[in-house]
Amino acid sequence: MKPAPPPGETAPRRLFRRRPAAETPPAAPAAAPPPPWRVLVVDDDPDIHAMTRIVLRDFSFQERPFEVISAHSAAEARRVLTHTPDIPVMLLDVVMETPHAGLDLIHHIREELGNHRIAIVLRTGQPGEAPEREVMLAYDINDYRNKTDLTAQRLFTALVAGLRSWISLTRIEALTQVLEQQVGERTRALEAALRFSDAVLDRLPLPVWVEDGAGLLTRCNHAFRDLFGREPESWQGRPATSLLPPTPAGQPVELTLATAIGTIEAILRRQPLAPPDCGSIGTLVDITLSKEMERRLRELATIDDLTGALNRRAFFDAATQEIERAGRYAIPVSVVMIDLDHFKQINDRHGHAIGDAVLRAAAAAIAASLREVDRLGRLGGEEFAVLLPQTPLAGAVEVAERLRRAIAAVAVPLGPGAATVGLTASLGVAEHRLGTLGPDAVLNRADAALYRAKREGRDRVSQDPPS
Ligand code: GH3
Ligand code: MG
Ligand code: MG
Repeated sequence: MKPAPPPGETAPRRLFRRRPAAETPPAAPAAAPPPPWRVLVVDDDPDIHAMTRIVLRDFSFQERPFEVISAHSAAEARRVLTHTPDIPVMLLDVVMETPHAGLDLIHHIREELGNHRIAIVLRTGQPGEAPEREVMLAYDINDYRNKTDLTAQRLFTALVAGLRSWISLTRIEALTQVLEQQVGERTRALEAALRFSDAVLDRLPLPVWVEDGAGLLTRCNHAFRDLFGREPESWQGRPATSLLPPTPAGQPVELTLATAIGTIEAILRRQPLAPPDCGSIGTLVDITLSKEMERRLRELATIDDLTGALNRRAFFDAATQEIERAGRYAIPVSVVMIDLDHFKQINDRHGHAIGDAVLRAAAAAIAASLREVDRLGRLGGEEFAVLLPQTPLAGAVEVAERLRRAIAAVAVPLGPGAATVGLTASLGVAEHRLGTLGPDAVLNRADAALYRAKREGRDRVSQDPPS
C-alpha cells in the first residue's frame, strides 16, 4: 500500500501507462494524451477534497479528465497559485482560517496576482456568513453555491461553465497578444519607413515639404528649414501659405519669395498626393542665379556696353515692333538720327579714353531728355538713333531740338583740373509713313536729313521732308 499524499499534493492519477522502454518502437513514440483540466480545491474540510475527487473521477470535458489540486487553507492556495499560475478553475470555500479567508483570497488573486482568467466557483457551508447577492456583486467570481447544492451534476455544470469562461479568456488573451505583436511589428516597420523617407528627404538639396488636405505643414526637409530658417518643430501644423503663396495643383509657378537668406526667385510646384492624405508635396527650385545670368545675357545681347543704349540689332528689333504697332493702330511714330560733330578730333586731341567718356556723357544727356517709352540705340561709332512712339514729325523735331541743346551742354572734365571738353551734334528727323514696312525707310530718310544738317553747318536739326 502507498501512503496517502500529503495535503496540497496532487492525487496520483495515471493518465496513461508508459510501456517499458524495451518495448517502445524508437521511430513511433506514442502520442501524449491530452493533459487533464486542473481544478484547485481550496477548503479546510478534508471530506470536501475526497468527495470532489471521487465525483470528478468519472467526468471529462472535451475529452480531457479532471485533476484535483488540493489546498487546505487560503495561505496554502496562495502558494499553489504562485507556483502553478495557469490553473483554469478553482472551487473555493469562504470560511477557513478566518471567516473571510476565501473572499480575501479572491481579492489577492484578482488584484495582487492580476489573474483575471481563473474561474472561481465559491462554495460555502455557512450561507449566512457571506450573503450570496452581495458577494456576487462585490467579488469577481463566476459562481456561488451552497456546498449542499453541489450534487455531482451541478458541480460538473459549474466547472464546465468556469472552464468555458477560462478558455474564452485564454483565447482572447492569446489573440490580443498576437494582435499586439502584429501592431508592434507594423508600427516599427512604419517608423522605419518614416525614418527612411525623412532621411531621403533630408538628403535632397531641394526644399521639400508636405501639406495636409487643410494646407497645414506636416513635414519638411533640411533644405526647406535652411531656406526659411526655423526650428523643425515650429513648422508642424502651420499653414503653408504663411510662407508660400497658394498655387494651382501640379503647375510650376515662377515667383519671388522672401526667405531667411533674402529674396529669391524660385519655381514652386505642389504635386497632389493620392487619398487618403489628399494633401500635396511641394518643391522649390531656387532660380535666382540662372535668372540673373539670363538677365545678364539678355543685356549683353541687347545693350551697348559703353553707353547703356540699345545696340544696333536690339534697336532695329524695337523699331520694327513699334512700327508694326503704329501700322496696326494708325498712330504716328518718328525717329531721330544723331551724329556727333567732329568727333574724330576729340579722339585725336584728347585720346580714346576721353572720346569714350564723351560718348557716355552724350548718351546720358540724350537718355535724360527722353520719355520712358522712347528708345535710344547706338547704331555705331558716334552715331545714335532715337525712336519716338506716338510722336508726329512736328513733335519729333521739338524733341530733336531739345536733344541738340542737351548734347551741346555736355562738358566732360579732361582731368582733375577745371578744363572740360564739349561737343555738338547734327540731327535728322523723319516720321514713319503708314503703309511702308520695316524701319529702314524712315531711318534712311532721317539719315538723309542728318547729312543735310552736316552739310548746312552741323549743330542743327534737319527734317524730312524739309520744312
Ligand atoms: P563728322 O562731324 O563729319 O561726323 O566728323 P566725325 O569726326 O565725327 O566723323 P568720323 O566718321 O570721321 O569719325 C568718327 C570717329 O569716331 C572715328 C572713330 O575713331 C571714332 N569712334 C568710333 N567709335 C568709337 C568709340 O567707341 N570710342 C571712341 N573713343 N571713338 C570712337
Ligand atoms: Mg561724326
Ligand atoms: Mg559718324
